[in-house]
Amino acid sequence: MGEKRDYYEILGVSKGADDGELKKAFRSMARKFHPDKNDAPDADERFKEIQEAYAVLSDSQKRAQYDRFGHDTPGGSPFGAGGFQGFNINFDDILGGDLFSNIFGGGRSRSRSSQRQGQDILLRHEISLESVLNGSKEEVEVDLPSHCEDCEGTGARDGKTTACDECNGKGQVRVRQQIGPFVQDVVRECPHCEGSGRKAAANCKTCRGNGLSTTAQTLRFSVPAGASDGTRLRMRGKGHPAPFGRGNSGDLFIELNIEEHSWFERNGMDLIMSIPIGYSDLALGTVITLPHLDEKELKIKIPAGTNSGDTVVISGRGLPSSRGIGRGDVVVLCKLHMPRKFNKATRKTLESIKDELAGGDDAIQRILDDAADHRS
Ligand SMILES: [Zn+2]
Ligand SMILES: [Zn+2]
Repeated sequence: MGEKRDYYEILGVSKGADDGELKKAFRSMARKFHPDKNDAPDADERFKEIQEAYAVLSDSQKRAQYDRFGHDTPGGSPFGAGGFQGFNINFDDILGGDLFSNIFGGGRSRSRSSQRQGQDILLRHEISLESVLNGSKEEVEVDLPSHCEDCEGTGARDGKTTACDECNGKGQVRVRQQIGPFVQDVVRECPHCEGSGRKAAANCKTCRGNGLSTTAQTLRFSVPAGASDGTRLRMRGKGHPAPFGRGNSGDLFIELNIEEHSWFERNGMDLIMSIPIGYSDLALGTVITLPHLDEKELKIKIPAGTNSGDTVVISGRGLPSSRGIGRGDVVVLCKLHMPRKFNKATRKTLESIKDELAGGDDAIQRILDDAADHRS
C-alpha cells in the first residue's frame, strides 16, 4: 500500500466539517463504495478506508489527535497493533435502519456465506531421493471426507428443513460487544444454522445429521524433480465438504517429506556423504565405486595423499534444481578409518615405517618450539 491518504480527503469534507457534515459524507461514501454494490476492484479497500476515516473523525478525541499528528499518532494506530480491521461499529443510528439491514446486515453476511468453504486437509507423503532426482508419479489410497449421498450433505432426512429457532430463520444474530473504545452491535452469522436460517426437520439416518461420510479415493499426483522437503502440492476441492452441503469443499494439501537416505544427505542441490577410508588408501589413493540414484555408478577417485577431512567433489551428479536447470554435485567427505587393534605383524610393519609416517610428530615439534620462543 502507498502513502496513507488524508482522512478528510477520503470523506471529501473540509477540516472544519461538523458532525452533521461528517455523517452525511460518510453515509454517501459508504453507499457508493460498499463492496456489495460496487464492483470496482478497489471498492473493498476504499470502503475500509472510508470506515477508518469516519471512525477517527467522528470521535472528538481521536480527531483532535489526528489534527495534531496526522497519521503518525504517537503510540501507533488508534486501533492497536493490528491497525484498523474493518467495519464492526454500529452505524445504525447514523445511517438509518434501512441502510443497515440492506447493506451491513443482509448483504454482507449473505455474500460471505455464499463463499463458505470446507476446511482444508493436510496429508503428508514420503518420497525418496530418487523421486527428487527424476520426478515421479505417485498414487495414494486415502479415505477422504465427502458429502453424505443420502442427504446430499444437508444432514436433513428426505431433504426436509424448517426455520432455525435460534435466529427465527434469519440466519443472523446480533451480539453486543466491546471492542476498544467502541460498544458495538455486531451482526453475526447464527452459529446454529451457520447462516442458512434453516435446519433439518429430522436428521438424515445415514449420517445422523452431520451431512458427512467418507469415501476411499485414489489420489494421483506428480512430484516435480528438485522438490524440496516440505513442498506442498494443492488439490483443489479435495478437502472437507462445506458444512451442510452449502459452498465449496476445502482443498487438500499434500506435503512432500523426503525419506532419509542410507548414505546421502541433501544440501540444496548437492548430495553430501562421508566415507571411512583406510590409512593406506588415503596415502596411496584409490577409487571407490557406489551405486547411485541416477543408476549410473558413482566413481569416487580418492587422490594419493588425501587427508582425513578432505572432500572430493563429483560435479553434476547431485539433484536437479526445481527450475529444471542443471544438477548439483556429490560431495564426498573422506574420513580416516582407524582400526582399534592391529595384529602383531601389522604392528611391527607400522613401527618399522613409523619415522616415515610421522608427519604429525614434526607438526607437534613445531608447536612446542613456537611455545618455547614465546616464553623466552
Ligand atoms: Zn439460525
Ligand atoms: Zn446424510
